[in-house]
Amino acid sequence: MGWNEDPHYRDLRKRMVEYQIVGRGVRDRGVIEAMLKVPRHLFVPPPYREEAYNDYPLSIGRGQTISQPYMVAVMTEALELKGDEKVLEIGTGSGYQTAVLAEIASEVFTIERDPLLAERARELLESLGYRNIHFRVGDGTLGWPEEAPFDRIIVTAAAPSIPKPLREQLRVGGIIVIPVGGRYGQTLVKGKKVSDEKMEIEELFDCAFVPLVGEYGFPENPGL
Ligand code: SAH
Repeated sequence: MGWNEDPHYRDLRKRMVEYQIVGRGVRDRGVIEAMLKVPRHLFVPPPYREEAYNDYPLSIGRGQTISQPYMVAVMTEALELKGDEKVLEIGTGSGYQTAVLAEIASEVFTIERDPLLAERARELLESLGYRNIHFRVGDGTLGWPEEAPFDRIIVTAAAPSIPKPLREQLRVGGIIVIPVGGRYGQTLVKGKKVSDEKMEIEELFDCAFVPLVGEYGFPENPGL
């Protein structure tokens, strides 16, 4: 990809991958190489550039966050990507996870409900030269029926349960990774669709994501 790389950020990124990703047990080569490559500092608001490679999530405005680097690595590794997959992502946010997916998989379909975040992410990802990402603004809990089935689905916002349309739009043999639980605390879940009716569930660890808001997610205004 043709961006001009500042060696300062390249060094921060190398250290991030060494200590936070490889150092904590992520072994997937594709994930490691993608995270060495994607310029995460461009995906955070300018005042946070120096913090972009630190070990925590950051605010991206609109009440949303860019996930901690380790969380991105673990979720991507859990997808077990080989390279030829068609991936659906719910919650484009900054577009950082989208870029990591696009480095590894063949096609990425990403849905964001906030039009402003979606537009920012699209502009940045297009300026970085990605041509295998498809954008949609709307309620991702409904999936992207016209493009189904998907080999992999990743949801980067917290859901009360796995949305039914997403179960249906996952190919048999496919994998979904999604935080499931309450509004303020969840378990990261990896589901393998073993037949049209059956999902094999593996619980990875506790996590805290912003809520997935939509028809098969949480209501927009809790308590109103
Ligand atoms: N992967 C992103 C994480 C963004 S936070 C990153 O690393 O930057 C989660 C995002 O999910 C937010 O941008 C939020 O607006 C979005 N979101 C919440 N509910 C959604 C829904 N039903 N459909 C699509 N996007 C949704």
